[in-house]
Order: sequence, then C-alpha cells, then structure tokens
Amino acid sequence: MIKFEELLGKEFDCECGKTHRIKVERMISKDMISNKDLEFELERLKAKKPVFVCDENTLEAVKKDISLEGMRVFILEPRNRVLADIENSKKIINDSKNSDLLVSIGSGTINDITKYAAQELGLNYICIPTAPSVDGYTSPVTALLVNGFKETLNAEPPKTVLVSLRVIKESPIDLIKAGIGDAMAKITARMDWLLSKVINSEYVCDFTWKIMVDDIKQITKNIDLAIERDGKTLNILMRLLSNSGIAMSMAGNSRPASGAEHIVSHFIEMYYELNNELPLFHGIQVSLGTLISLKAYNYLFNGLDSLKVIDIDIDERKKNLTKLFGESLGNQLMEIYNMKMKKLKKPDKALIEKAKNEILPVYSEFVESAEKAISKLNLESEYSKIDEDLIRKAVMFSNSLRDRYTIFDLFDSLGLIKDFSSKCL
Ligand SMILES: [Zn+2]
Ligand SMILES: [Zn+2]
Repeated sequence: MIKFEELLGKEFDCECGKTHRIKVERMISKDMISNKDLEFELERLKAKKPVFVCDENTLEAVKKDISLEGMRVFILEPRNRVLADIENSKKIINDSKNSDLLVSIGSGTINDITKYAAQELGLNYICIPTAPSVDGYTSPVTALLVNGFKETLNAEPPKTVLVSLRVIKESPIDLIKAGIGDAMAKITARMDWLLSKVINSEYVCDFTWKIMVDDIKQITKNIDLAIERDGKTLNILMRLLSNSGIAMSMAGNSRPASGAEHIVSHFIEMYYELNNELPLFHGIQVSLGTLISLKAYNYLFNGLDSLKVIDIDIDERKKNLTKLFGESLGNQLMEIYNMKMKKLKKPDKALIEKAKNEILPVYSEFVESAEKAISKLNLESEYSKIDEDLIRKAVMFSNSLRDRYTIFDLFDSLGLIKDFSSKCL
C-alpha cells in the first residue's frame, strides 16, 4: 500500500475510483518547534509578511517554542473564549491586507477564524495547533457563526500543520477529552456510511478509513495514557484528528468524520445558540452523541424487536421543531426532512441483514472498546448540563437537520426512533 505521508500535497488515483488531491503539504510533529521550523515553512511558501493570529492564552502557550518578537501579531479577544464568529475573521481580513500568509496559533476556533480569513484574502496559511481538540485543523471547511447561526463554509485547508508536542501536552484536559470524543465519533460515522452504502447505494471511500483505523485502535486501547498526557499517545491523537480532516477533503464532504452523533450534537448546539447559551466543547458533546449512536447499533445487532413501533406523524414533528427553533427555521427543517423522506425507502429485512453484514467487522471490533474509552473520560457531570428532554428530542428529530443518512433514519423509517429516544440514555 502507498504510504499516506507520501501523498501529502499530491494528487492520486484512489481505489474508490476517484482522484483525490490532498492540499495539506506538510504535517510536522516535534517535541518542540522552533523559529527555525517556522522560518523554513515561510521560506518554502515564499512568505515575507506573515500575520500571526492567536489569543492571549495561545500566544502564551507557544512562547517557549517560538518568539514572535518583531512579527505582526493579531490578538483575538476575549482571552478565555473567542467566538468562532465571521466578524472576527473580518477584523483579521481588514488588518492583513498587505500580508502574504496567515499563521493560526490556537485550537479549533482560532483555526476556523484564520482559515476563513486566509480563504477570503486568497492567502496560504500555516496551522500551529495548541490542543488536540478537533479534526477541523486540516478539514476543507470552517464552521463560523454568521448572523448568530452556525454555518459550515468551504475553505482551503492549511499548507502546513506544525505541531509542538510540548504545547499539546500542556493543553487544558477538557480539550484533550474533547479531541478523544471527536476521534471516537469516526467509528459511528464509518458505520453510518456503510449503512447508507447498502441501503442507498451511497459512494464510499475505504481509504479514508484506512488512514484512521490503526490510530483509532491505539487511542481506544490507551485512553488512560492520553488522559495522563503521554506524549506518544497525544501525538497519535493529533495525527488521527489531522487525518480525519484530510479524509473529509478526500470524500468531498464530512461523511468519513461525521454521522448521527454529530447531527445530534449540532441539533443541541443550534438550540443553545438560539437561546444565547454556551454549548459544551464540540468533541465533548459529540462523545455523548457517539454513546447514543453506539447504543442504536447495539439494538440493530442484538434485536430491533425489543423496540416498539410508534409512528411520529408529520404534525408532531413540525410542532416540536417550531417550538424549539421558531417558525421560520422550523419550516426550513421540515423542508429538508420532507425532501429526504421522498428519496428514502423503508428497507426490508433482507436489506437490513445485508447492511449488518457490511457493518459487522467495525461493530465487533470497536463498539465495546469505544464505549469503554468514552466512559473513562468521566464526562457525566458535563453531559448532565444538557437537558434530558432536549437530548431525547434531538434523537427523535435531528434527522431533519441534514440530508445525510444515518442509523437514526433507519430507525425513523421503521417507526422505532421514538421508542429508542426514550431508551437512549
Ligand atoms: Zn467533529
Ligand atoms: Zn478514495
């Protein structure tokens, strides 16, 4: 097999039939990084006037590795929780007009803000992650608040990812846990993709799984080491998250990285944002979604018969969505749902068996170990901040959010999602 590292920055014909082009050119991981590493990359990318984007915390975090004296530094505010807001990107755009490259120093939020600004300015950017918290560093999208709503916008990934393990090891433990949560989600995302391959003949790229599966095994096995901030394990976590972002580029969408577990999380996040409340960290919320999705797969393999058929009629769905999100957004979500339902068929028993056979290798290898890994993160007190009723509604209705087939659509089409929602926690 071709070595994945050798494919960075290249175009290649994949076994899935597509030609993929990986835009990230270099992924460098060292015990510590230095100004020399940075200068090498700037020279390689022919940049003379870089602007560094960070907040006070992340600037402090990299201080022992690199000195930014005499450089142009843009510090985002407030120190403790910069918003992933398009307004922040616009401030950078205004301030960086005569620059020739951006460098993001931070975790997911600062990366997303910088990625969008670089895209708008038509510049390359370098990413220096300060926490192994999300897979968005290398992804071809950026998630930003636009007029109060979270939008996922297409944007070029960084040319270089420059990882200092010293910085990663010192990142806040909640961000490490969030990264593990986002990593475990790749298992349920993979099962959802295979499910849709059988039920809807959806295109699948197996190579996206191959570049993640060994690292997923390592992380599920060594969760204690990850929590203890073992450098080798966090390096694997960081690589897994980076490869997940690249997998999204290859698939052309977030399919390899995101399934029902993410959609449930988006539903909850959307509700919070609408009510001006801060959601939990992305990966922490996603880890709850992953536990719920794993439970759904347990029902699929151990007996769907134990779930009762209770149909949700269209009025009930509409009433609930409007109550949660208001008239206008509620109607939009109903439109997505109705369009999706027109395309979907209710699979018969034979097709469901076929899907189970396809998913079985992933299910049997990972379901138990992933559940155990997530439980070791001890996130119960975080989960308890989310209203239980909201979680159950998210399970029942979040398939109105995206035109993406998941295990919840299967349950919905079989009339099982309502009963499952009452048993999902
Ligand atoms: Zn994610
Ligand atoms: Zn492929």
